[in-house]
Amino acid sequence: MEPSVDKSNYYTDTDEMINWFEKSAENAAAVQRQTLQQILELNHGVEYLKKWLGDIRLQDENAMESLYATMVPLASHADFEPYIHRIADGEKAPLLTQDPMKTLSLSSGTTEGRQKFVPFTRHSSQTTLQIFKLAAAYRSRIYSIREGGKVLEFIYSSKQYKTKGGLIAGTATTHYYASEEFKIKQQHTKSFTCSPEEVISSGDYKQSTYCHLLLGLYYCDEIEFVTSTFAYSIVQAFRSFEELWKELCHDIREGTLSSRINITKVQKVILDIIVPNPELASRIESICEEVEREDWFSIIPKLWPNVKYVYTIMTGSMQPYLNKLRHYGGDLPLVSADYGSTESWIGVNAEPSSPPEKVTFAIIPTFSYFEFIPLHRSKSQSFNNSHKDANLLANDDFIEDEPVPLSQVKIGQEYEIVLTTFTGLYRYRLGDVVEVAGFHKKTPKLNFICRRKLILTVNIDKNTEQDLQLVVERVSRILISKSRAELVDFTSHANVSKKPGHYVIYWEIKGDVDENVLGECCREMDASFVDHGYVVSRKTNSIGPLELCIVERGTFKKILEHFIGNGAALSQFKTPRCTSNQVLLRILNVCTIKRFYSTAYG
Ligand code: AMP
Repeated sequence: MEPSVDKSNYYTDTDEMINWFEKSAENAAAVQRQTLQQILELNHGVEYLKKWLGDIRLQDENAMESLYATMVPLASHADFEPYIHRIADGEKAPLLTQDPMKTLSLSSGTTEGRQKFVPFTRHSSQTTLQIFKLAAAYRSRIYSIREGGKVLEFIYSSKQYKTKGGLIAGTATTHYYASEEFKIKQQHTKSFTCSPEEVISSGDYKQSTYCHLLLGLYYCDEIEFVTSTFAYSIVQAFRSFEELWKELCHDIREGTLSSRINITKVQKVILDIIVPNPELASRIESICEEVEREDWFSIIPKLWPNVKYVYTIMTGSMQPYLNKLRHYGGDLPLVSADYGSTESWIGVNAEPSSPPEKVTFAIIPTFSYFEFIPLHRSKSQSFNNSHKDANLLANDDFIEDEPVPLSQVKIGQEYEIVLTTFTGLYRYRLGDVVEVAGFHKKTPKLNFICRRKLILTVNIDKNTEQDLQLVVERVSRILISKSRAELVDFTSHANVSKKPGHYVIYWEIKGDVDENVLGECCREMDASFVDHGYVVSRKTNSIGPLELCIVERGTFKKILEHFIGNGAALSQFKTPRCTSNQVLLRILNVCTIKRFYSTAYG
């Protein structure tokens, strides 16, 4: 039996879509109970649930949430892995869902350093289309776009392959682009991506980027907005554009296709579309010649005069690309896209005019059953903390309380999200830290804070991805103010191979920078980590001087290529902000051209 999907997927009218969500939001607590009941009913008797619930059916709506939380334990991906592997190997018994699983998603693996299989079902594509339509409905209330307009969308499928048991495996975005729902989106919604399926699924991200840009330029007067899943892809595409524009203009002028494109199906589909257009090519060329002198500032509205906004995920690990996006976007509004994961979509940006730094995500209570682990930041070192259950203390700076349902979250409190999904994950800790910023009707609006996993730690110091991002953002301002250089990308490593261990920060920079400025950046970075454990350890020299490594241009592209070679998709790529992966460290160290140490501390 397919889980019943809201009628909203068939709504074409934006008001209908918004009404559907606002009604669910108004009754969020009850809708959450129904969602849990529906998931448990659909999957009653599957092996994982049987282990905890036996044959019991949780049917009493009032007691269901607390009984469920008492009987089924919190779990992590590792708890589901053995079941997922049995499914991948072809076991037919119902292990996680009653409905046989036909597809598995491969998470990008860029945040955890390791790719994970995650269940993917029709429900996953259906909710993707739903949130897409809902977010579009909210955007259309503020920025109206032309019916039938085109979208310049930097999206990429990766390869799909079969597991031993014959299931299709690939990234979640890849499955979605291959789904019926994506076809519905292309055919029946107000706007559609200007690149055909052959371009999205070429399997070579460089060729796809070239063709996305070519078609975007070819249809430049018809493009209504520019988008991608994560901001990284748009920045990457425009960095390529800076190098490729002359070739692109040549193709538009002559109606030809660069020899860079050697995939036959892509060549054919593009050559069927474009015809020589010398007038357009000259117009683009003269804009590019002028904008190149201004370091490509405002290139998007200059080339695409009818574009209303840029729409992509700009929060969390995408925040470091915001400045570059603003640079390319000029005065255009930047609309921060919605919050989700391979495991489940979570929240919609219902206030698209909020600046990306302030965006919140309103939870969609029909998508999954959500629980929230309250997190408290310890004032001192949490290793010595005597707080109740030691097992609840993760190896980071947070102290946990018992999880609460959506109806009990409090404004201003930070939580880790726990999911129970239609795809067979039960009380699954997602590992994301969010803060409740307020309520949309009665559903919580979340600020994304960071991935929970500690990224930089040598001994008692604890720094998350967000801590590192703040330090780098602060210090890169020195770089920008004292030189004309820009930070292209960064990552870090806690080097404990020698005593004392120390932090290594890798920077790729565009432009020339005086060595004194880089030395200053290095010292400032060391002084900017305010975590108590770090400060104490630096003072006592149990953490050594911070090392800043400047890597040559193109190093982070090599890292991207390493991940893509291992099956990740550019659409879901996030630069790992800390790594102990030996292959990555080898790339970074081979490409290091200058090293600085912060020397004395305090
Ligand atoms: P993936 O494993 O590729 O599905 O990535 C999912 C993860 O990306 C989430 O768990 C978040 O950590 C992050 N993410 C997704 N959407 C957003 C968003 N709107 N803002 C910040 N981080 C996000």
